[in-house]
Amino acid sequence: TKVVHWFHPKDLRCQDNTALHHASELAHSSKKPLICLYLHCAADESWHGTSPARMDFMCEGLAILQKDLKDLNIPLVFLECDDRKQMVPTVVDWLKEHKVSHVFSNYEYEIDEMRRDIKLVKLVENDVHVSIYHDQTVVEPGTMLTGSGKPMKVFTPYFGKWLSIVKEEPELLDLRPDPKKQSAEIAKELKDLFGTKPPTPGKDKQFKNEEERKRIRKLWPAGHKAGGKRMDAFLKKIKNYKATRSNPAEDSTSRMSAYFSAGMFSVREALRKVSDYNGGSSDFTEGRSKPGVYSWVREIVFRELYRQTTMTTPHTSMNLPQNLKFDYVQWEDDEEGWEKWYKGQTGEPFIDAGMRQLNQEAWMHNRLRMNVSSYLYCNLLLDYRRGERYFAETLIDWDLSNNTQGWEPSYTVFNPVSQAERNDPDGDYIRKWVPELKDVEGKAIFAPYARLSKEEFEKLGYPKPHVDWKKTKARCMERFKNDMSGV
Ligand code: FAD
Repeated sequence: TKVVHWFHPKDLRCQDNTALHHASELAHSSKKPLICLYLHCAADESWHGTSPARMDFMCEGLAILQKDLKDLNIPLVFLECDDRKQMVPTVVDWLKEHKVSHVFSNYEYEIDEMRRDIKLVKLVENDVHVSIYHDQTVVEPGTMLTGSGKPMKVFTPYFGKWLSIVKEEPELLDLRPDPKKQSAEIAKELKDLFGTKPPTPGKDKQFKNEEERKRIRKLWPAGHKAGGKRMDAFLKKIKNYKATRSNPAEDSTSRMSAYFSAGMFSVREALRKVSDYNGGSSDFTEGRSKPGVYSWVREIVFRELYRQTTMTTPHTSMNLPQNLKFDYVQWEDDEEGWEKWYKGQTGEPFIDAGMRQLNQEAWMHNRLRMNVSSYLYCNLLLDYRRGERYFAETLIDWDLSNNTQGWEPSYTVFNPVSQAERNDPDGDYIRKWVPELKDVEGKAIFAPYARLSKEEFEKLGYPKPHVDWKKTKARCMERFKNDMSGV
């Protein structure tokens, strides 16, 4: 019999991979062959809206992973299936055909993925032993409870508790050893399994052209090694993170999100590097850690909390807001506004700069993600789920937990002019992404229609604001109040 590790789209690495490590230990101690599997279901990727950038990133990552595993004499077998319903049966048939006794994998906390794992356990019944591990976070989702035993949902107390746990238990940052190299004899026995080809992006996941693909590939090289290089480069500037993280022109954040969301680099390994940088201490508290560390770890902990929320409020992965009252809001049907929003043509420079960065880089700075989302569902009053889906279809770092919870509607209406003045004080970010405005001087760059003369504005070839910010803010407050009262 054989041992299998089943990779999912969030753990695409050999290094510090919890389930893979356990699979390798068992195979080694029981002298059974270890095989790795990846199931590609194009219909599932379409269902999730996976972007061409992310699909291509994952495909390249899978090819790298196959090579890394081959160096350890472990085959990575790619299975294909066309129908979402057939995903688990496809794997189960394969397990039976290859006389597999044990399957290992890491949890994914979204509802369909949890159901997939349950279905696997049911279908293999007593034939195959299934072991599933927590791997995506440092502190296990579902274990951070309030005094009354409910899952914590509020960030500040969650963060405080998380910091004290990690300070007290630095071993939480210990890395799982790499899988052991298999013997040449076992590799020989498995020789027919080494040659399967990594998946390629489906028809609906193609870039406009090859040039575009190469440009994005260069911005986001795939694999664990590339992720590690990026993390090391970030540590050289982490000391400025607190001061500069909200300024999108500085580009001072790590850009690790793509690697974390595909699991090409683990958050544990990133935090281990941060703790080494922090003099070997896992005390990340402000004032007791090196500059920048506390603020960066704080963002990582948002990611941790969001996984707990996905797991404990399953409706958030079923296209529903966490606060279900927002499902009663009557959204507008402004197709022109929608088109202007996603193309970066709203006439609000900060919003347009953000959307153009997204369309160009398959990534957007967090400050802009907060602004463009607020603008879509508050000022345009369009269903926030349209924006959420557009992000999924465009981002390289799409992650259901971070995206749905980033898009969770709220009553805070961001003012794109004052937001730009505060966070892009010299207008450099706007100038970079909205070239029509590159020669606009002073504060006019933040609101050219209001602050330039009619003639000066018309020369720019830049659109007028699609909506009046003040009036639409009032409309939004009124709509939320009316539609959500009494539900
Ligand atoms: P850094 O500032 O270097 O932060 C380090 C890591 O912490 C990030 O890589 C990410 O894993 C995590 N992180 C940072 N900010 C947040 C946050 N606000 N919430 C949760 N985790 C965070 N992040 C995604 O990974 N995928 C998404 O699909 C996604 N969609 C978003 C949608 C909206 C509307 C909003 C407001 C935020 C969204 N985020 C998403 C969170 C955040 O914007 C990105 O994680 C961040 O911009 C990635 O850049 P970075 O790696 O340079 O971050």
